[in-house]
Amino acid sequence: MREESPYADILWRDDAQPLSRAFDDIYFSTSSGLEESRYVFLQQNDLPQRWATLKPGDTFTIGETGFGTGLNFLTAWELWRQRAPAGARLHFISVEKYPLHPNDLRRALDLWPQLQPLAEQLIREYPPLLAKGVHRLHLEQATLTLVVGEASEAFHNLRLEDDSRDQLVDAWFLDGFAPAKNPAMWTSELFENLAALSRPGTTFATFTCAGLVKRGLKAAGFTIQKVPGFGRKREMLRGRLEARKPSQITATPWHLPGGNPEIKIRKVAVVGAGISGATTARTLAERGIEVHVFDQAPTPGAGASGNAQGILYAKLSPKPGPNGDFNLHALMYALRYYQRHCPESVHFSGLLQLAQTDKERQLQAQIGQWLAPYRGKSLATEVTPAQASEIAGLPLAFGGLYFPQAGWLEPQKVCEALLRHRNIHLHYTRKIDQLTATDCGWQLTSAETGLQEETAKESVLTADAVVICTANGIRHFLQTAALPLRPIRGQVSSAPADDLSRQLKITLCGEGYIAPAHNGHHCFGATFKLKETATELRAEEHRENLHTLAEMLPPIADAFSTQSISGRAALRAATPDYLPIAGPIPIWGSLEETYAELRKNRKRLIPQKAPYQPHLYALGGLGSRGFAYAPLAAEVIAAWLCGEAMPVCNTLAKALHPARFAVRDLGKNRKGVAS
Ligand code: SAM
Repeated sequence: MREESPYADILWRDDAQPLSRAFDDIYFSTSSGLEESRYVFLQQNDLPQRWATLKPGDTFTIGETGFGTGLNFLTAWELWRQRAPAGARLHFISVEKYPLHPNDLRRALDLWPQLQPLAEQLIREYPPLLAKGVHRLHLEQATLTLVVGEASEAFHNLRLEDDSRDQLVDAWFLDGFAPAKNPAMWTSELFENLAALSRPGTTFATFTCAGLVKRGLKAAGFTIQKVPGFGRKREMLRGRLEARKPSQITATPWHLPGGNPEIKIRKVAVVGAGISGATTARTLAERGIEVHVFDQAPTPGAGASGNAQGILYAKLSPKPGPNGDFNLHALMYALRYYQRHCPESVHFSGLLQLAQTDKERQLQAQIGQWLAPYRGKSLATEVTPAQASEIAGLPLAFGGLYFPQAGWLEPQKVCEALLRHRNIHLHYTRKIDQLTATDCGWQLTSAETGLQEETAKESVLTADAVVICTANGIRHFLQTAALPLRPIRGQVSSAPADDLSRQLKITLCGEGYIAPAHNGHHCFGATFKLKETATELRAEEHRENLHTLAEMLPPIADAFSTQSISGRAALRAATPDYLPIAGPIPIWGSLEETYAELRKNRKRLIPQKAPYQPHLYALGGLGSRGFAYAPLAAEVIAAWLCGEAMPVCNTLAKALHPARFAVRDLGKNRKGVAS
């Protein structure tokens, strides 16, 4: 089972300041936390001076030990908004073992009326469930990556064990509780991880002057300087990393594409304008990259993303593991993502995941136990049949898991809204079916015209990078034909709403799903036909959908069966492990050659990197959870492409990696994808 009490145990003192009961220590100076934060962390890292010299397009990354109330983050973000040039980006990466409950966060930040507009944004974006792992929040001009977990382990889990990719942080705020009260926060492993995530010249500042901190930082390669402390504190430490030690490789680096991640990618071609292409294009465009999106259809979202109502659905798991973790983090990220980008096209009025079988009931009971300690503003709660009926607005025979912030969205409008950005250029009715690596980037060839894009449009002749987002069509490209994607036909049905069905207030999911009425109709479905590739409408699949609906809402299914039912059939693309594919594309034969020894011993450490296609990526295999998975998976693509910190821990980055299937085949001495 997952962790127990997840939140910080706070004692609110008489002067309204928070104190940690577990550590018997204060979160910040009781005389002035705000001034302390500005002096110790901002000034002693020389941030005002360093930020004045930044240029648009630059990114500056701060790493912090101990997010606590977020005060340091807010003071840094405030200064960033005053000093950094427009178009530069602040990335703040902070770790926290005991996050504050949302109510405590609000109470702590109420202490600083001068930071209120920023605090409000943070409170709004603060995840509803602070589970272990990486949470990425997007705020105005700043990205916050909040990693919940033990500090040293959390930073270790952000490392890819790659000398160039791990140089992420420009300045450190070392703010665990006092070393005497919390020695576990100031270990040599932590300092080694900080050094591994630093560049030469990365600075640090910390309120403490303890010997163990000095020795630890020195041993990890930092130079140390004692300077006067804040308020009554006599001294504090500041310093910098002079030179990086080479990363120690402890695992076979099959996931690491070669090349220099520092090379700026300016122009990217995204092939496919469904939800994976739209989210990828948007996240890259927001980084200032010129993005060209190609789709064979005349409109976005014409494939599996093209139903009238799309459900935002993910499957939680009571046990930690890649599938459950990705589902949880992807869902939380997606909920905030759509609210931010296209609130007018989402209908997050609630979603009930019904427990229609004994197995599902048992699973949900375990999920309920795991969720219980996340009191209050939680992601999901267990409800009885009576509560479920009350929430849904119609009588239900089953209880389930209620997700108050989830629901359904309008797929085409969502894709259109995401693709509306000044850096995105749209090329519809353009079928790209050949990609050629050249000395000056990728060349895209369109078979329809038989002409290279060069002839059609000079500006889209080449791109520095390509992201293939064409669902099952990913296999049509030579470089990605080996990916084990399989089509799953799905037919949704649509029936006119009546007086009874209009009472449905929320989205219901179980063996099937039904969404509340939209434009006088309900979408319900969907069938699941493995390996079928035909997309014609079938009367028997409408009957199947009605039958599934009858299990959830018998009177509504009865009424619909007398109506004329329309619908739509499309193909999902799924992977064998049901996780998406998001990452760089290896050269399959060379990958197998480089790691051939894994056939004899899958645990063998082979320290070489394998050759990869230069800046070629794929995002796909989203199955039936495209709207939940795509936003976070697209952020993973952006991290690979731009050499940024991952929005997921390194084990999840590997669990989503396109090369994972080939590496698994090698480890099991199976015929490989390239054979
Ligand atoms: N920077 C914070 C702020 O701006 O409010 C104050 C940080 S407070 C002094 C120290 C924080 O470190 C606490 O939130 C505590 O829960 C966290 N912490 C303590 N031990 C930790 C550990 N081993 N790993 C991660 N976080 C830890």
